[in-house]
Amino acid sequence: MQRDLLGLRQLEAKDMELILDTAEACKQLFNRPVRKVPTLRGKVVVNLFYEPSTRTRTSFEMAGKWLSADVVNITVAASSVVKGESLKDTARTVQALGADMVVIRHQASGVPHLLARTVDAAIINAGDGTNEHPTQGLLDIFTIRQHLGQVAGKRVLIVGDILHSRVARSNIWGLTKLGAAVMVCGPPTLIPVGLEKLGVTVVENLDEVLPLADVVNVLRIQLERQKAGMFPTLREYTRRWGITGERLALMRPDALLMHPGPANLGVEISEEATLDRRSVIREQVTNGVAVRMAVLYLLSGGERHELAD
Ligand code: ASP
Repeated sequence: MQRDLLGLRQLEAKDMELILDTAEACKQLFNRPVRKVPTLRGKVVVNLFYEPSTRTRTSFEMAGKWLSADVVNITVAASSVVKGESLKDTARTVQALGADMVVIRHQASGVPHLLARTVDAAIINAGDGTNEHPTQGLLDIFTIRQHLGQVAGKRVLIVGDILHSRVARSNIWGLTKLGAAVMVCGPPTLIPVGLEKLGVTVVENLDEVLPLADVVNVLRIQLERQKAGMFPTLREYTRRWGITGERLALMRPDALLMHPGPANLGVEISEEATLDRRSVIREQVTNGVAVRMAVLYLLSGGERHELAD
């Protein structure tokens, strides 16, 4: 296992499988009357968030606490300019806090990688700009594996703002390494040029591919990362790429419907769709805690069989 979790691009398939297997063991703990285990007693986990987060930050916090680590939350006001000096300050702060692991989210791609070169603690990327969100990718894959048995050979359709989505990128790296067939669909202006090189199929007509997909993963439109005019209007977006009641009818009865949250309800996905019986959106959130427990545990040097002791 590597020292840091910077992205699924860097992670070998066998390490991904190890995290997923360990997350299964972690999920078993959820059924116990007392969820807490002493595994990370004495370890310090620092949550360092430069961008807003609800699910990721709280689930890392819960994951750390259930493993008995000391969890420190630092929320930093977002700054539009990343200066070398501010990152050095940050590095000094986390060193001084004696952090064993740092969970970092930052609006600029590559910041976790820089931090990993500067501090002794293990670095976990909780989302860097438009680059990667590896624990989201892993929890999505975990959720698919739990429902469909395996990822290899499954057809996963990712819909929406691929260009600005770190969730899309982590899913693409992870899913293709594990043998899934990944298709992407969205406004042509929001599909990065040359994406096919990552081994995915770009499809134009959503309605034609929806009946083929085993999994439909819907992305949030990242309005905060868009300059202007990436698509005509929100209403037009919904008409062409929104998962509406009508589109639900096109999906396979046994397909999974996913969304990383937070959702723009009524834009990329309707509320009705989020409540459909094929929706596993709530489960994704629960699985996020199990996957993050597994990551904290493994990066602290643990082996799987020790976990429940
Ligand atoms: N929560 C995810 C992220 O931080 C997805 C999103 O915000 O759209 O990337």
